[in-house]
Amino acid sequence: MHSLVIRNVRPMGGETTSVTIRDGRIAGYGEDVPEGAETLDGGGAILIPGLVEAHTHMDKTLLGMGWYRNEVGPRLTDKIDNERMQRRVLGIDPARQSARQAVLAASLGTTHIRTHVDVDTEVGVAGIEGVLETRERYRDLVDIELVAFPQSGMLVRPGTVELMEKALQLGAQVVGGLDPSGIDRDPKGNLDVVFGLAERYAVPVDIHLHEPAELGAFSMELIIERTKALGLQGKVTISHAFCLGMTDQDYVAALIDALAQAQIHILTTAPASRPAPAVKRLMEAGIVVAAGSDGVRDTWGPYNNPDMLERAVLVGLRNNLRRDDEVALALDTCTYGGARMMGLDGYGLEPGCRADLVLLDGETLAEAVVSRRPRKMVMKAGKVIARDGAALIAAS
Ligand SMILES: [Zn+2]
Repeated sequence: MHSLVIRNVRPMGGETTSVTIRDGRIAGYGEDVPEGAETLDGGGAILIPGLVEAHTHMDKTLLGMGWYRNEVGPRLTDKIDNERMQRRVLGIDPARQSARQAVLAASLGTTHIRTHVDVDTEVGVAGIEGVLETRERYRDLVDIELVAFPQSGMLVRPGTVELMEKALQLGAQVVGGLDPSGIDRDPKGNLDVVFGLAERYAVPVDIHLHEPAELGAFSMELIIERTKALGLQGKVTISHAFCLGMTDQDYVAALIDALAQAQIHILTTAPASRPAPAVKRLMEAGIVVAAGSDGVRDTWGPYNNPDMLERAVLVGLRNNLRRDDEVALALDTCTYGGARMMGLDGYGLEPGCRADLVLLDGETLAEAVVSRRPRKMVMKAGKVIARDGAALIAAS
């Protein structure tokens, strides 16, 4: 049985030890080196579990395609309509682009990704097929979970619901949704379809909810009601949830209570320019909070790279997390929070967990997060897949 021992590592920045890896899993800690084991020197680096990118859009990143000059209008629908057009004009190939992001993310220590993939009456399920190809081709590098995402709306574009169903049959593992009131303008009809698909295909739900303040709160209450009625506690995520950043604090408190009761997870990108959920407050209420990059360099905006340590810094900045223990909370949204949101089995640093691991260069955990130096080593299922910031496999 092949064993690998990485000496001289500090789990979560704690005491120096060795970690033994066998059959792609963590076998244990301590100085005992099994006979015949291969050994590596961790150089005193901090050992953390693989970073989790819990919300992105790999099918439409423009990574490697040259600079896109953004002259898009201010409304959400301007961005959606422009993107559908640019997909053709620029030739955004979902397989090629998702592969580029997968390899870059892996080199940055991301071992699990949830990606929303556009499904609409123009692209059909081609995006889903492209990202499925990437999921298969790079399965030794990173685990990719696909959300069938009706980016252009569902009920406003007849034929989309059937395509969503086809996406789930092809292998999308989560049913997505988008602004039930703001885009489809029929919250009941929209959520009936989303939750109907979740029930029929026994898949979790992840809904983009950009709707602000009272409108978002109204949609959120409908989502909470359905989650409880269908017994989907623990299976539903609301992404963005900007309405939790609204000013009516009594109303926000009531929503947080209801979300916690329904065990609904919240995904945040910690946006600098929008009201946003207060991460620490949600965590204190027992709500799973995960983080994601959202679009990486796409037609929506020129920002973002898929570095989840950078995302942890943004979560910290947005939420005024300054103390070392608070920086650790920010990192938690990019590790354990994402893993719990996605329901990952065997995630973590305990013996028996999968050896999806990252070695960070840093004096302490907080210092490593804020410095976000190139990752010293990334391991997926017990195999080293990146060193010193470079993936050992290139995107083909
Ligand atoms: Zn998104």
